[in-house]
Amino acid sequence: MLSIETIQVGELATGQALTVPIYRYHQGRLGPKVYLQANVHGAEVQGNAVLLQLLERLKSCTLNGEVTIVALANPMGINQKSGEFTLGRFDPITGVNWNRQYLGNHIDVQHWLKQQSLNDIEAVYRDFRELLVEETHAALQSSWGLTTGQHLCYRLQALAQQHDLVIDLHTGPKSTRHLYCPKVLADAASTFNIGCVLMMPNEFSGAMDEACFHPWWQLKQLLSQQGIDAPMAVEAFTLELGSQELIDLKAADDDALGILSYLKYKQVIDDDIQPERMTRYACELKDYRKLHAPKGAMVEYHATLGVPHKQGQVLAKLLSMENLNEQPAITELHAPADAIPVLHFASAAVHQGTELFKLMTNYYEI
Ligand SMILES: [Zn+2]
Repeated sequence: MLSIETIQVGELATGQALTVPIYRYHQGRLGPKVYLQANVHGAEVQGNAVLLQLLERLKSCTLNGEVTIVALANPMGINQKSGEFTLGRFDPITGVNWNRQYLGNHIDVQHWLKQQSLNDIEAVYRDFRELLVEETHAALQSSWGLTTGQHLCYRLQALAQQHDLVIDLHTGPKSTRHLYCPKVLADAASTFNIGCVLMMPNEFSGAMDEACFHPWWQLKQLLSQQGIDAPMAVEAFTLELGSQELIDLKAADDDALGILSYLKYKQVIDDDIQPERMTRYACELKDYRKLHAPKGAMVEYHATLGVPHKQGQVLAKLLSMENLNEQPAITELHAPADAIPVLHFASAAVHQGTELFKLMTNYYEI
């Protein structure tokens, strides 16, 4: 059964409500609750297509539990156009990244846990979840008000917190598929059909995935100090599925299959959908390095995204035409280390200092 509701995530100066459609799908069987959202960054539209394909495929699967699908999660972002391009990565009012405005956990988990009976871990988990949702609702009622971005993020967060598995769909600018995977959930990384994996520290820095898994990581650690080896009650990942400003229904269907493979691993579906056999590379998030443009130029990009490159290999050619008498028009930009280029800047015209590439260094196979 598919049900539809809308939530309000903001209000325009002219008074119109900004709303987001929420789809819930279940087949009446008990199981984990899954939350998927897409397009928090305006130009990153491909996740919407992935959710559409996923919903179609789910209808022919045996589903245990419930799937909540939030496409077009940021109406301000996708409507923020400049000429023919969509901007929408940063809140235009504050300049803050839309995906860095979720609420961190301010609960003193250690103090709270001391007041709980540890005989019934399920009850501890249930009460902890209620507390987290209450905290987000309380923040939404702050008498000091919230920023535009916080209004959006906290409402999405309050919804996501009521689920067990959270998947936030993004894209890079020009990008190969990559996965942000919390280290504590590393075992799940090879269940997605994604060749590049960034292993995140178990920390919070404002993103949706971190906001969802981090309090549960804190709880798990404290329980472990009490000699209780409890599983992570909530898993959360960010999937970066290709490039911005692009809808590709075939690629979206492939990515829907990858998500189903993870859902099979979590026993959300019974169908035999296995991860693809592929080479998967991972690196620590601290080894995911930015390569900045050494000069203002026009750029011909040469790197093949997702493929290991040797130190010194040409990643791009830079064209500068301001002084052809004294310097060559074309210079090469080389890989500063052995690395896998994951994404590059979308435009061929760059200022000095532009974040031109992001590269996985010190990578390893998983
Ligand atoms: Zn994004």
